[in-house]
Amino acid sequence: MAYKHLFGPVPSRRLGTSLGVDLVPLKVCSFNCIYCEVGATTNLTIQRKEYIPVDAVLTEVDDYLSHNPALDYITFSGAGEPTLNSGIGHIINYIKGRYPQYKLALITNSSLFGDAALRAEVSPVDLVLPSLDAVTPRVFAGLNRPNHAISIDAIVEGLIAFRQESDALMWLEIFLSPGINDTPEELTALKAACTRIQPHSIQLNTLDRPGTVSGLHPVSHEKLTEIVEFFKPLSAEIIAKSATRNQSTAFNTDIREQIIQTISRRPCTDVDLCEMLGLHINELNKYLGALVDEGIVFGRTEKRGTFFTLKK
Ligand code: SF4
Repeated sequence: MAYKHLFGPVPSRRLGTSLGVDLVPLKVCSFNCIYCEVGATTNLTIQRKEYIPVDAVLTEVDDYLSHNPALDYITFSGAGEPTLNSGIGHIINYIKGRYPQYKLALITNSSLFGDAALRAEVSPVDLVLPSLDAVTPRVFAGLNRPNHAISIDAIVEGLIAFRQESDALMWLEIFLSPGINDTPEELTALKAACTRIQPHSIQLNTLDRPGTVSGLHPVSHEKLTEIVEFFKPLSAEIIAKSATRNQSTAFNTDIREQIIQTISRRPCTDVDLCEMLGLHINELNKYLGALVDEGIVFGRTEKRGTFFTLKK
């Protein structure tokens, strides 16, 4: 069957071979991060509902898993914030009950973790990868541009509570933007919050390719290394894709070639490429990011989005 809500499996250093499950349409999110690779949020909401019907997701999951694929994780992630789907708890319990051999991961912006009921719903996952890019309200507002009802203090308290309530591993991701959240003040506040949260690992990321807002740059590898030192004795590591992508061997050369062929004819946005090649945005991003790293492709941000072209 053709899948609308599953994508990949996506190769990933962190998650190995990971089947993506997308629970919201493009682009339903509680944040509108300036660095978002998926594009600008069109529905900036905290309303939870069945954006994708649970039955539709489970029909695809059953079909896919009936072939007993080798997977390291089944991962809730995608084109927006997965916890906004009110059926996520039901889906987690269903997969855990019926396919206990598979591990579940949740990639989340943490925005709803202040809600105890939501925390209980997602507690059975094996691994949670929450984002926490800033803890001072001004920086949080400027970087993540959240729905107005979201409080960063509630997020931090929610993450602390989740670590007490759940057996899930927690790898907390901090996305760093130069001059915004890599300042001594913000890093000090982030370290204090992480010390209270006690994630199993802190993972430092930075810009991989153009985000929603033009003119953004990555934090240098030297600076990321300094930040790893700064966070000690907490365990922090760099997961910026340019430093890690080459270790993955699971890239599909056909898809890579199709992307190169397509943009050699005319510049395309990521959304254009997804439509033309039938790829999920997250899957496409993996390939595009690698091509940008290798200097084969570059992106230019314009009004309709970021256009990708071949480097001459
Ligand atoms: S980066 Fe994640 S949390 Fe931020 S706007 Fe994009 S999808 Fe939402």
